[in-house]
Amino acid sequence: MYEDAIDPRRVAQMIDEYFKVRGLKKPTPEQAVLWAMTELGEAADELLRRSGPWVRNNPEKMRSFDRAAFVEELGDTILMLLIAAHELDRSNPLVAMVSKIERKIAEEVHARVAERHADSGLT
Ligand SMILES: [Mg+2]
Repeated sequence: MYEDAIDPRRVAQMIDEYFKVRGLKKPTPEQAVLWAMTELGEAADELLRRSGPWVRNNPEKMRSFDRAAFVEELGDTILMLLIAAHELDRSNPLVAMVSKIERKIAEEVHARVAERHADSGLT
């Protein structure tokens, strides 16, 4: 189940299924990025509750921080970002993220090894 969340083929299937089953119109990549921003705003709204209480325009929205709601809004944000890439060319930003992390770690390790060799006089 959790492995499915980063399996590019499974993510693509889930996105297609999500829209098909719910009968929703798929956003364009541009619209999906804008939707991601609104979802991030919802996550930020939830997070602000940790440092409240704040005076809100809508008193019915005054409640304490809900960890599950916060995490769900982050999930909504990630979903919209996945949809943006999916609708562009069926790519997956999680794959790009993992590749970049691996590349940066490898570059750092390579730089440290080269630095140690330089310090020790090895070439
Ligand atoms: Mg949401």
